[in-house]
Amino acid sequence: MTNADSATTRPARTRLAPTPTGALHLGNLRTFLVNWALARREGWEILLRIEDLDSPRTKPGSDRQIIDILEWIGIDWDRGPEYQLPHMDRYAGALDRLAQRGLLFACSCTRSEIADSMEFARASEPDPNGFTGGRELRYPGTCRDRIIKEGWRERFPLAGIESPDCLRILTEDRPITLHDALAGPVVLNPAREVGDIVVVAKSGLPAYQLAVVVDDLDQNMTHVVRGNDLFSSTARQILIYRLLGAADRIPRWFHLPLIIGPDGRKLAKRHGDSRVSSYRDAGTSVERIIGLMAYWCGITASRWAMSLDEFTAALDVSSIPYDPIVFTPEDDAFLRG
Ligand code: GLU
Repeated sequence: MTNADSATTRPARTRLAPTPTGALHLGNLRTFLVNWALARREGWEILLRIEDLDSPRTKPGSDRQIIDILEWIGIDWDRGPEYQLPHMDRYAGALDRLAQRGLLFACSCTRSEIADSMEFARASEPDPNGFTGGRELRYPGTCRDRIIKEGWRERFPLAGIESPDCLRILTEDRPITLHDALAGPVVLNPAREVGDIVVVAKSGLPAYQLAVVVDDLDQNMTHVVRGNDLFSSTARQILIYRLLGAADRIPRWFHLPLIIGPDGRKLAKRHGDSRVSSYRDAGTSVERIIGLMAYWCGITASRWAMSLDEFTAALDVSSIPYDPIVFTPEDDAFLRG
């Protein structure tokens, strides 16, 4: 059975999953808008999940700002907002299963220790898909003999207390095929990219890779729409689904091309102020913002203002250009009218 088959036998459900680390910018908005429009058209239920585990990057109040912008655009949801921090038992249950299977070990290696040992391996093994960017360090397995089967919770209480150790999963060196609805099959091998995957960070909180799988399972997600900078994460998550005995619950994936700046890097603060709130405050209309998104998604051949309903009716994911989309001065000028 493929991912797609298993996903369609359950009630369709998706999530908007912002990390509250700052204001929503045009790149994030494009992802949420496509996710929302697909969901509304196809009848998928939508959960708003605020991913607040990313301490210390999370910023108080930024969840509210994100919600405010989504509401202003007209993006809504059927359930939520749900947060992650109140659900430590959920992550602990998954860690129990991994520990019982003898897959968890404690690791005290620092970034610079890993960097010292792995520089050679990264330079000699470029990613054949070109998706992983080559910025991550590959963990060489130094602490693999520190397996913890019992009592992991006494040492890792999931209380956000800094620890000299993180918890990793023994990660088999094996290619994983990710079936993406937009990109087709993509083959990645987490063991060759990052080595043993971190599931509890030194911050004392569950790491993103574990939390997202546990949440998506618990919340019965069938469709995941996000940026293709997360391809490499998706392979790690597929592996975690399998290790948790949930291979039949892997969602259907839609990875969207990134919005980048003129320098070829992911759209971010360095490219100037692309916060949606700044455009709103300067008087840009929702229709202009949606019009730019429509242009970026291949719906229109030039930029013009568009309503949310028009966007939703016209969106065709197979027409989204798959190369990264560049945010240009002309885009900015159009928004400023
Ligand atoms: N919270 C993540 C982000 O804002 C998205 C995670 C996901 O879609 O799985 O980049």
